[in-house]
Amino acid sequence: IEVNKALNGWEHKLKDAGVRDTEFNLKCIVSHVLQRKFNTVPDDFAQLKFNAEQLADFERFCEARCARMPLQHIIGEWDFMDITLKTAPTVFIPRPETEEFVRLVIENYKNVKHVDMLEVGCGSGAMSLSMLHALPQVDATAIERSKAATALAWENAKLLGLHQRFKVHNHTMEEDKYMPEELKDKQYDLIISNPPYVKTDEFQYLHPEVVVYENLNALDGGSDGLRVARLVFELACRHLRPGGKLWLELGNEHPPLVKTIMHLQYQGRLTFVDSYFDQYKRERF
Ligand code: GLN
Repeated sequence: IEVNKALNGWEHKLKDAGVRDTEFNLKCIVSHVLQRKFNTVPDDFAQLKFNAEQLADFERFCEARCARMPLQHIIGEWDFMDITLKTAPTVFIPRPETEEFVRLVIENYKNVKHVDMLEVGCGSGAMSLSMLHALPQVDATAIERSKAATALAWENAKLLGLHQRFKVHNHTMEEDKYMPEELKDKQYDLIISNPPYVKTDEFQYLHPEVVVYENLNALDGGSDGLRVARLVFELACRHLRPGGKLWLELGNEHPPLVKTIMHLQYQGRLTFVDSYFDQYKRERF
C-alpha cells in the first residue's frame, strides 16, 4: 500500500484534533512504522510503501496522536542532543529547551580536568547522559524520586554504554533528608537540575499532551514555581565543594527571584553568579 493512500484524511483529523505541525507528526509516525530513523526518510515519504501490518500500526498511531498522546510516547524513543533516549509513559519527556541548557553547561565545563557532577531529578537521564556523552572527564550521580524514571535512566545509561560513569538513586528529597544515606557525605563540583518549575496558575496553559499524558509531578513547582528549587538550594549548600556551582533550568521570571533569595537567605552559603537567556530571549538558565 502506498503511504500516500494511507495518509488519506489523517492530516485533517490531526489538525481537527488540535495537533500542530501535522506534516512533521506524520513523517515521525511513518518513520517509526517503517522502523527507520527520521532523518533517513525523504520529505516525499508519501511515495514509500506499507505492508498490511505497517498500515494497521500507522492507523493506530495516528489515532493515538489524535487523542493527543505525545509523539515521544508513540515512538518510544526521542533524540536529545547527540543521543537517543528511550521514553516511558510516566517519565518526563526531554524538552528541546533543555538541550540549550545542557549545551551551555558543556561549553562551560569542556576544559575542566575532572568533574564530579550531581543531577537532582534526572527523569529519563537526558541531561546527565548527554553530559557524559560529550565530556569524558565527567562522573555523574543522579537522584530521582520516580521509580519508573530511575529505572528508565539506568536503562538508557546501559543502552548508551555510559553506565560506568553514571549512578542513579531512587530518592525523594524532603526537608530533613535531601540526599540518600549512601550519598550524605559526598560533595560535588557541579550540581545540575531541571526541577519542576511551572507555577500552579500556569497549569491552565499546558497542552493536553502534558496534562493528560505526563506526570505533573515533574512540572509542578508550586505557587511561585520554586518549591523544589528551594530544596535544591539547601542540598547545594551541603553538597557543593568550595567553588562548586549549581546550574538550573527555570522559568523566565525566576532568575531575578533566585538572586533575591540568595541575597536574603543564603549569604555566605550560596552566591548568585549569573543568568543566561534561551533562544527566545527568555532569562531562565
Ligand atoms: N518547560 C517545561 C514545559 O513546560 C517545564 C519543565 C519543568 O517544569 N521542569 O514543558
